[in-house]
Amino acid sequence: MLSEDITGRTRLCGIIGDPVEHSISPVMHNAAFKKLGLDYLYIPFHVTPGNLRRAMEGMRGLNISGLNVTIPHKVEVMQFLDSVDPTAEKIGAVNVVFNSGGLLQGFNTDAEGFLQPLLEKKIDPKGKNVVILGAGGASRAIAFILSERGADITILNRTSGKAIQFIETVSQTTGKIMGTLELNEMNLSTVMPVADILINATSVGMSPDSNDTLVTRDLLRPGMVVVDIVYNPFKTKLLMEAEKAGATTIGGIEMLVWQGALSFEKWTGLKAPLEEMRKAARKALKA
Ligand code: NAP
Repeated sequence: MLSEDITGRTRLCGIIGDPVEHSISPVMHNAAFKKLGLDYLYIPFHVTPGNLRRAMEGMRGLNISGLNVTIPHKVEVMQFLDSVDPTAEKIGAVNVVFNSGGLLQGFNTDAEGFLQPLLEKKIDPKGKNVVILGAGGASRAIAFILSERGADITILNRTSGKAIQFIETVSQTTGKIMGTLELNEMNLSTVMPVADILINATSVGMSPDSNDTLVTRDLLRPGMVVVDIVYNPFKTKLLMEAEKAGATTIGGIEMLVWQGALSFEKWTGLKAPLEEMRKAARKALKA
């Protein structure tokens, strides 16, 4: 939207994070609003942890329609909301807030945003052996949804204590027991031969360290599905290696676009123009 297109009726959405400058959500959402001819504008807000309460009061006070929430606010933001939907509550993190007539409602679209690209490729997690690398916020949403869908999950994390605590919480909420191991070469070579799906949910491989990967080609094979949720670069080293090994690959941009599309639908009540959002995100990442 150009500044001369802003009217008295323009509704405001945005993203809060610290940092937030790198976010491609503004480009993606503004492209979607434009495509559907909606009088909406999406902007980034740099909100430091000390200002989170004021930011959420501001959302109410300024009648901002919707917000995405990114690092480091996904957990802390929950205390400032009027309600949190059951999925977000179980995951313990909110990445979308909808202002419904002054009531702030929290949702988590990261989990469903991860699942949808798998389903698009006709990959059903039920009964699959899934190896997840990382035990941070994104891993938690992914483990939750895959566990709910009946996958058998092993989580490998650099800091092993963190994974144990995390697994107990997810297992309690989904009722499915998960395994946890320290992320090291020996454990990788044990779990990889029986893995159907490998997910990198760490930040390893992210630009500028785009030559890094936690899993080398010798541990990858045809028929396996490899998902890297890192979206910058567009094709990570892990995905390149997986392609060479003949595995099916899914890049982080898919989860990014899907969580955005599901956020868009919460705010507008309309079906998101997924392809337009994907195109805008790809273009922004290549730039
Ligand atoms: P986070 O909560 O900070 O967790 C980071 C995870 O990466 C932790 O498990 C950490 O292990 C691990 N890690 C970091 N450096 C490592 C290294 N050198 N070796 C091994 N493990 C390492 O972050 P997050 O929110 O989960 O995000 C993780 C990544 O996913 C980021 O790159 C983020 O951009 C991406 N992401 C993508 C999407 C998407 O839509 N595509 C959505 C969310 C996040 P320790 O516990 O040992 O520190």
